[in-house]
Amino acid sequence: MEFQSPSSTPPEALEAACPREGVESKFGVGVGRLEWLDNENSWLVMGMDGQNHGSFKGVVASDKSIFSSRFKDVTGSPPPLDLSLVPELAMKLQDIPVNPCFALMLAFTEPLSLIPVKGFSFKNSEILSWAHCDSSKPGRSTTSERWVLHSTSKYARDIISQTGLRKPSAATLTKVAEDVLEEFKSTGLNGSQPFFRKVHRWGSAFPAASVAGEEKCLWDDKKKLGICGDFCVSPNVEGAILSGLAAAAKLIDAPSCL
Ligand SMILES: Cc1cc2nc3c(=O)[nH]c(=O)nc-3n(C[C@H](O)[C@H](O)[C@H](O)COP(=O)(O)OP(=O)(O)OC[C@H]3O[C@@H](n4cnc5c(N)ncnc54)[C@H](O)[C@@H]3O)c2cc1C
Repeated sequence: MEFQSPSSTPPEALEAACPREGVESKFGVGVGRLEWLDNENSWLVMGMDGQNHGSFKGVVASDKSIFSSRFKDVTGSPPPLDLSLVPELAMKLQDIPVNPCFALMLAFTEPLSLIPVKGFSFKNSEILSWAHCDSSKPGRSTTSERWVLHSTSKYARDIISQTGLRKPSAATLTKVAEDVLEEFKSTGLNGSQPFFRKVHRWGSAFPAASVAGEEKCLWDDKKKLGICGDFCVSPNVEGAILSGLAAAAKLIDAPSCL
């Protein structure tokens, strides 16, 4: 099964990563339903629009929205995977805790030359947890210097407890931007005023649990279903990659899957 490409990764980059002969890649496809066909020992993969994408001897699902009850809150439809089909995995996947975060994007006309590194964590701040110079990443435009600041989970949780999970108001976002920017300035590392700022609330930014332990992914050997993602290992890209590799290895090792 192929998943929709993440918005920041161009489809052609993903296609280049899947050059194996005989592998058909589909991009921009949302999976709406994974149906278990008992008599065929296969999974039927249906799109969000009900389109049949075929049946497969093995499936790897790489996002917790595939089985999360929050899927229904967002789309109005049940999540694509009914966890009662894989009861042993279901026990590990109930209510994965998540940490919220506010991310503030800032753009400056000049480099913040007092900061000697391109990314760092804050240890003693109630408000700020992390800062990174986004424009220092490979391939980014360098016409301005852009930083992304993350709030602490506690700060985000406190704000969300006051506002609820509805879309934050302009006043809330302005207050968050000011709090986070002031905290950044109070380090003495930045005195410049950004010419652009935008804050975004990530209600479920970081999984607060690693559900797969040493296995790094969850695998149902009978139905050849793998579940992977950062929530299986650690809440970062490294965790997501290690988990994806572990699930791919399970699929490759499973007789009749490939
Ligand atoms: C604001 C922010 C900044 C971060 N910065 C960093 C950082 O600098 N460094 C770092 O290491 N980590 C960072 N992280 C964490 C990192 O982004 C995640 O750990 C990582 O993206 C998780 O990868 P994943 O593959 O598990 O999930 P995702 O990246 O969420 O990928 C899941 C994919 O599944 C797709 N999908 C979901 N449902 C369906 C469906 N029904 N049908 C088809 N496709 C579907 C989604 O479109 C998505 O592309 C950051 C996170 C946040 C929120």
